[in-house]
Amino acid sequence: MLPFIAHPDAPFQAEWIAALQAAMPDETIVPFGALDAAARASCTFAIVANPRPQDLRCLPQLRWVHSVWAGVERLLADLEDLELKIVRLVDPQLAQTMAEAVLAWTLYLHRDMPRYAAQQRNCEWLQQDYVRPQHKTVSLLGLGALGQAAAQRLLAAGFRVQGWSRTPRTMGGVNCHTGPAGLATLLASTDILVCLLPLTHQTMGLLDDARLGLLRPQTGLLNFARGPIIDDQALQRALESGAVGHAVLDVFASEPLPADSWHWTHPQVTVLPHVSAPTDRQTASAIVAQNVARYRRTGEIPAAVDRSRGY
Ligand code: NAP
Repeated sequence: MLPFIAHPDAPFQAEWIAALQAAMPDETIVPFGALDAAARASCTFAIVANPRPQDLRCLPQLRWVHSVWAGVERLLADLEDLELKIVRLVDPQLAQTMAEAVLAWTLYLHRDMPRYAAQQRNCEWLQQDYVRPQHKTVSLLGLGALGQAAAQRLLAAGFRVQGWSRTPRTMGGVNCHTGPAGLATLLASTDILVCLLPLTHQTMGLLDDARLGLLRPQTGLLNFARGPIIDDQALQRALESGAVGHAVLDVFASEPLPADSWHWTHPQVTVLPHVSAPTDRQTASAIVAQNVARYRRTGEIPAAVDRSRGY
């Protein structure tokens, strides 16, 4: 038996179990509640989707978990004290879905859609200057699975692209930066800034007053990674000062975004309900199935999250 462990109230559990079962006909995928005492005592690995930590603590032989999500900061925090390998989802389909979202919302800002929507509300007929994408720089914070796929789409659409990562990267057509000095250079030469970083101790609050203060006036901002990477109040100030012209926010410190949050009604903010790159159950299940089959065959646990760097 191979357990799929999610919070008992989480939606789509039956759909996940069905998709995983279809991808792994030789396995018997069961919810955590179906494990009897003997199955709990012998379980060495599990598939997880935001599990309750106490459920995993009931599995004394558990060596590794395969998450069906790409972001793992919550798992890492919840399971800090457990000697457990955490494997996250790395799905090329997810990267393509995110790249599509980055391109779509980059074009939204590039073609001045928030401004034309505001003009329409005022019955205002006014043509803004057009600037070709070749003269606009889109900067990606994070050049991992998602950042690299986004960079390819942006390059194909004609934008100048630069990126920032923890370790040096080389990507054709992308001006790559690292370190604090690289970040400062990148921020000061950006038209549209895209956040695709994992949330770690190092990236929490990264975009604060000082860093947002380096942006040129009216820079566009997309946060498709995690809310707390941007200092929320610093963002509010940057919108007021004009350093950020418009922000498209898909992720927030608190989700669902509370009804009294300032973001909902701010004219320079577009709110998305964490939809930039939903996990595709079918492709994700196929990836998990490959990893499980290899583990069954060779005992090899897939590449796990590096706990010391936090992603
Ligand atoms: P990834 O492959 O692990 O790539 C992370 C990138 O961030 C790497 O380039 C890494 O640098 C860089 N990075 C990490 N810490 C850094 C630091 N302190 N300074 C500079 N660069 C740093 O992750 P991914 O698959 O691209 O996913 C990124 C994040 O997107 C996930 O963690 C998740 O939170 C978020 N996400 C959001 C959605 C959504 O729907 N909104 C969906 C999926 C994922 P190196 O290249 O040097 O390692």
